[in-house]
Amino acid sequence: MAWDFETEPEFEAKLAWMRTFLKQEIIPLEGLATNFRAEGGRDLFKRITDPLKEEVKRQGLWAAHLPPDMGGLGFGQVKLGLMHEILGQCAYGPGIFGNQAPDSGNAELIAVGGTEAQKRQWMDPLLAGEIRSCFSMTEPGAGADPTLLTTNAVLDGEEWIINGHKWFSSNASISDFLLVMVKTGDADSTPYKAYSMFIVPTKTPGVNIVRDVPTMGEPDHKTGEPGGHAEVLYENVRVPKDSIVGGMDGLGQGFALAQKRLGPGRIHHAMRWLGQSQRAFDMLCERALTRYTAGSLLAEKQMVQDWIAESHAEMQAARLLTLQAAWKMDQLHAAGKHYSDARVEIGIIKFWGAKVLYNVIDRAIQIHGSLGYTTDLPLESMYRAARAARIYDGPDEVHKVTVARQMLKRYRPSEVPTEHTPTRRLLALEKYADYLDEVAVNA
Ligand SMILES: Cc1cc2nc3c(=O)[nH]c(=O)nc-3n(C[C@H](O)[C@H](O)[C@H](O)COP(=O)(O)OP(=O)(O)OC[C@H]3O[C@@H](n4cnc5c(N)ncnc54)[C@H](O)[C@@H]3O)c2cc1C
Repeated sequence: MAWDFETEPEFEAKLAWMRTFLKQEIIPLEGLATNFRAEGGRDLFKRITDPLKEEVKRQGLWAAHLPPDMGGLGFGQVKLGLMHEILGQCAYGPGIFGNQAPDSGNAELIAVGGTEAQKRQWMDPLLAGEIRSCFSMTEPGAGADPTLLTTNAVLDGEEWIINGHKWFSSNASISDFLLVMVKTGDADSTPYKAYSMFIVPTKTPGVNIVRDVPTMGEPDHKTGEPGGHAEVLYENVRVPKDSIVGGMDGLGQGFALAQKRLGPGRIHHAMRWLGQSQRAFDMLCERALTRYTAGSLLAEKQMVQDWIAESHAEMQAARLLTLQAAWKMDQLHAAGKHYSDARVEIGIIKFWGAKVLYNVIDRAIQIHGSLGYTTDLPLESMYRAARAARIYDGPDEVHKVTVARQMLKRYRPSEVPTEHTPTRRLLALEKYADYLDEVAVNA
């Protein structure tokens, strides 16, 4: 029985390299954020970041998310989680390591369910960072309950014709292909077998990117900039019959595939949130030790100490919960089992991690007072971005429902509470009657 909280020295050395690289080469890019969004900015970004990506490749850390039997480096979820904790400190981090959402999850999905031809055509260039992808599932009329999705496909000879309306298709407007959740079953099929995942090249006629929807995270986002959340109309989009992930064998497998994709993605999200939380926590502590008011440093006030202790404890809990979920997934993968057996652990980290992120940033803003509310610090944008974490990849409530249902399966109803003291006393009197008789005889 091994309960091991240590990181191998060789991998710890890689993590140490990553920490320094992130601090010295990636976080400083944030200072040029406005340049990157100006005309020619994407070229500028590419010129600066291409050599950084080469360095990551030289270090053997590029696109580390796939297991070796799927063409990846085989780090597994625990190591990937530790990497994402570092990369999550800066929005540019995952991309420079070839590990950014939604591309990493999409590569994983094709690796798990795609045909050999689909892997060569889409997964390989995705892993190489040559193309971009999108996961297009949510619709204006249906999100948390995917059985209500209405985008559908009908088979017409050797082609499928897709029609529907999606939104929040992240990166659709800069993608080369879309993974689209589409209804292919009829009214008789069970909802979970009625959907298939299609690979649709973004330039296919009928794929109409209406707009990138401006959000709380990026209110001034312009359509076509990286990181957008697109509204997409699929209007008589014709794709070959074998465009379903897995070919015709993948018919009706859409939800099963989506589950495989979302499990690891949630580990990565939760660890990236920890990276963000740590950054906010660092700012909180630095300010506490610096700002003098009402007779003492903020750090000396018990209420501020309470925030620091609560934040540290919440982050530590989130870290352990996430790494334990990652460990369980690695065990399941090694045993050839489905990640769904870790659904409780994954559900917990999704809502707990998002809450901790939000709490720590909130306290960091509070301690900075008016400065925390300004755009002179990254806290306000971190706060806006953090709000979405409680919604994407399933809102808090859905994960809590999953966790609660699984917990309740461990229990049975009982008219008389199991812990009812008078009942337990009666049972004890019965169970130990012989001893009690002895006491009575000897008395
Ligand atoms: C920044 C961002 C990026 C995203 N990227 C993508 C993407 O790339 N691809 C994609 O397909 N989608 C994406 N989404 C969409 C996201 O997955 C959905 O928003 C999410 O699944 C919730 O669906 P909904 O918005 O339709 O909310 P609804 O389904 O309408 O739910 C609304 C609210 O109802 C409550 N609720 C829902 N179900 C339950 C329940 N069972 N019990 C109790 N309460 C419940 C929750 O409070 C929930 O927030 C993204 C969203 C955001 C914010």
